[in-house]
Formats: sequence, structure tokens, C-alpha cells
Amino acid sequence: MTSMKILIVDDSITIRRIISTALKTVGYSETVEAANGKEALAKLENGNVDFIITDWNMPEMNGLDFIKEVRSKPMYSSLPILMVTTRGTEHDVIEALQAKVNSYIVKPFTPQELKEKIEGILKTVQVNTL
Ligand SMILES: [Mg+2]
Repeated sequence: MTSMKILIVDDSITIRRIISTALKTVGYSETVEAANGKEALAKLENGNVDFIITDWNMPEMNGLDFIKEVRSKPMYSSLPILMVTTRGTEHDVIEALQAKVNSYIVKPFTPQELKEKIEGILKTVQVNTL
């Protein structure tokens, strides 16, 4: 589980640092980072990403368009995606879920909350592949 490679996508280097530090705290030390959806797609193509944590509001390509692009590729149809954003209205959550994120967390969050979200997603993914 700790060898899982997590792609962190956020236009804020500070937020990326907060997320990667939180992940390390709860046992996930292998991370790669991207500043927007376009960069993230390139990092995905480099391979071996097991899990995506993405922001919504970003320049170049936002998180929602990034997720739609990822889900349009059959090989990534079940790749776990957690959206981390300040956008927490019911409408936003529904739009993200329709784009097929696995789960959604609103900033700010604690490392423990992040861990619980990740583990919740991994359980669902395992159940679905049985
Ligand atoms: Mg942002």
C-alpha cells in the first residue's frame, strides 16, 4: 500500500506541498506533482500512477476537464481519483461525481481526513474489481 504512486495536481505549489506532506504523514511517500491538467496528463503517460489527487480551479486545463480526459481513456477508466477543492457547493459535488471522480474533499482538511478518503476509495475500487 505504501508503494502506491500518487499524482498530486494543483496550481499552488504550497497546496501541493501540504498534500504531499500530509500523505507522507499517513504513510504514502511516493508522489509526483503537476501544476495543471495538461501537465498531469503528461505525468500520467510517464506511467505507474496508482491514484490521482486533483484540484479543480487551475489554469491551462482545470481539474474537471482533466478528469473527463482521464476517464475518456479506457486504460484509466477505473484509476482512483480524489478531488480536493475549495468548491464545495452541492452543484459542484454533483458535477464532479458526474465526471466520475471517486470522491471529493473540501479544503482545508486534516491528514487523517485525507487518509480516510483515500482508504474509502481504495475499498470501493477493490469491491468493484472482485
Ligand atoms: Mg487551484
